[in-house]
Amino acid sequence: MAAMARLFRSSSSSSAVFFVGRSLYTAAATELKSQSCLSRIDPKGRNVQWVFLGCPGVGKGTYASRLSVLLGVPHIATGDLVREELSSSGPLSKQLAYIVNQGKLVSDEIIISLLSKRLEAGESKGESGFILDGFPRTVRQAEILDEVTDIDLVVNLKLPENVLVEKCLGRRICSQCGKNFNVASINVKGENGNPDISMAPLLPPPQCVSKLITRADDTEPIVRERLRIYNEKSQPVEDFYRNKGNLLEFDLPGGIPESWPKLLEALNLDEYEEKQSATA
Ligand code: AMP
Repeated sequence: MAAMARLFRSSSSSSAVFFVGRSLYTAAATELKSQSCLSRIDPKGRNVQWVFLGCPGVGKGTYASRLSVLLGVPHIATGDLVREELSSSGPLSKQLAYIVNQGKLVSDEIIISLLSKRLEAGESKGESGFILDGFPRTVRQAEILDEVTDIDLVVNLKLPENVLVEKCLGRRICSQCGKNFNVASINVKGENGNPDISMAPLLPPPQCVSKLITRADDTEPIVRERLRIYNEKSQPVEDFYRNKGNLLEFDLPGGIPESWPKLLEALNLDEYEEKQSATA
């Protein structure tokens, strides 16, 4: 992770980084070549470095955050970093709001700069390992990540498109505690031999009910645009990792109660979780 933060730090050391276009990559690649061999850490001697892929609304944040607690590694969601930046009064805030509210992707330069700052902050607190959620979202981002560190596993979460839309439209966040909920009650008939999918709503506790907000980009036209962009820009990232042989495809069978145990099983973590719960 140190290699990653160092690389990204070099990329973000100037505020001009946001506007320099491809020269960012030239500088990054040069630094990389001189560091990568020395800085790679033996996968057996460090915490996991995982990536969660999947369409908007699939539940990357939910499962990545549960696994981060279980494995004791940070859950880093680039969407959260973008939202923090756009709600600040920083120089990028207006530009980001415009891009995000159209359902478009932020430039690779900006996202790498935000991620580098987050990694640097974590490194100074002694964090190690990570579960990335929402990054990489373009093949270029995947290539840069691949140049700076080893990714042990990429989990590709999948749900049918009509379920994804319903889930995004039902998503609510408590403006006070920041927890995520979902008011949608989903019952979708499986097509082409696929099983039916039911998901109970994940309702907020009474103290959060009056504080619920909806993400500005969770309206139907924007969700559909985000799905279109996922298919165009992010699906090739699945192929990138499929070719590398570290992609785990996971079709979610339903809501959290059905999916969580099955995901743990697919990750060979079911026994680990039982041991952790027993010692807690
Ligand atoms: P998310 O919460 O993951 O749906 O992300 C919200 C928004 O942040 C996305 O629609 C993009 O505009 C932006 N974003 C998050 N991660 C990335 C990324 N890796 N590359 C480009 N844009 C991103």
